[in-house]
Amino acid sequence: MLPIHHIYPKLATPANVIITTHQKPDPDALGSSLALSQVLLALGHSVTVISPTNWAAFLDWMPGAEAVLNFEITREKSASLINAADWIFCLDFNTLSRTKNLAPVLEQATAAKVLIDHHQQPAVESFAYGISDITKSSTCEMIYDFIIEGGWENLLTVDVAACLYAGLIGDTGSFRFPAASANVHKMAAHLKETGLKHTKVHEHIYDNFMESRLRFIGFVLTSRMEVYYEYNTALIYISKNDLLRYDIKTGDTEGLVNYPLSIGGIKMAAICIDRDEERKWSFRSKGNVDVNTFARRFFEGGGHFNAAGGRSSASLEETVKTFKKVLKENASEFQLI
Ligand code: 5GP
Ligand code: MN
Repeated sequence: MLPIHHIYPKLATPANVIITTHQKPDPDALGSSLALSQVLLALGHSVTVISPTNWAAFLDWMPGAEAVLNFEITREKSASLINAADWIFCLDFNTLSRTKNLAPVLEQATAAKVLIDHHQQPAVESFAYGISDITKSSTCEMIYDFIIEGGWENLLTVDVAACLYAGLIGDTGSFRFPAASANVHKMAAHLKETGLKHTKVHEHIYDNFMESRLRFIGFVLTSRMEVYYEYNTALIYISKNDLLRYDIKTGDTEGLVNYPLSIGGIKMAAICIDRDEERKWSFRSKGNVDVNTFARRFFEGGGHFNAAGGRSSASLEETVKTFKKVLKENASEFQLI
C-alpha cells in the first residue's frame, strides 16, 4: 500500500470514482463517504457512493445521502459501476470482509483501491494506496486531513462540514473519548467557521427516534442486562423477539452498549443482538481493557482498543454462554480483575 499523498496529483484528472464503507454504516462511515464525495465531485470527478447495506434513518439528512446506492437492492448497477471505476475509496474499515456481500465484487475490481481508515490491523495487501492511522479519532478526521493536505480547503463547504462533524461526534462520543485530541477540537473549530450548525447535527443523530425505541431501552436495561461485578463487566443480550416486539429498526440499537459503562467500576460492556443471519457482538471498554483483541480472539471480530465488534453463527443462548465462559477464563489477562 503506497502512501496516500501519491494520489493527490493523480486526482487532477477527472475519473470514475466509487466510495464505499462498512456494512450498516454509522455516522463516521457515511459522513466520511459523503464529505469525500462532495469534494471529489467539485474536483470534476464522477462519483458514486455505495453502501454494502441499508443504514439508519437518522443519517438520511446528510447532504448527498439520497444518492447513495444500497448494494443489497442495486447489485447489478453497483457491480457495473464498480467494474467501470478508476478509483475505489474504501473508508472506515480495515478488511474487505466488513463490506459483507460487496466484498467479492470489490476483490475482483481492477480499479486502484484507496484505504482511509483508523481501525487496528488493516489488511493493507488489499489496497494500492492508503493511510491507516489508529491514533485518529475517526475517518472523518482523516478525510478532513486529506482535504487540507490535498490543498482543497476552499472546498470545505458547510455541507461537507456537517458530514464531517457527524462522524467526529459519533466516534468520539461527542468529544469525550481519549481520541478527541487537540487536533480534533481544532478541526471542530474550523468546521464551525464554515457556518456549521452543530446543534442541528446533534439533534439529527440523537434526538430523532420513535417512542418505541426509548421504551425498548427501558425494557432492555431492566430485563436484558446482567452485571458481573466480580469481572467489572456487564452484558446485554437481545433476542429476535425483543426486536420485533418494539419494532426495532437499523440504527435503533446503536449506543445501547455504552449504558452499562456508566455504572461505577464497570470496565467492559458487551451486547449481543440476534440478527437474522448472525449474532452480532459489540464491545466497549475503559482504560487498559483491550476489546479489539477480545473480539478478534473469541468472536471473529476486531475494531479499536476500546470499541470493537464481532459475530457468531451459534444461537443467542450458545454465544452468550461462550461469552460468560471466556470472560471467566480470561478476566485477568484482559485486566478485568
Ligand atoms: P460497533 O460495535 O459500533 O458495531 O463497532 C465498534 C467498532 O468495531 C467499529 O469501529 C467497527 O468498525 C468495528 N467492528 C464492528 N464489528 C466488527 C467485525 O465484525 N469485525 C471487525 N473487524 N470490526 C468490527
Ligand atoms: Mn470510524
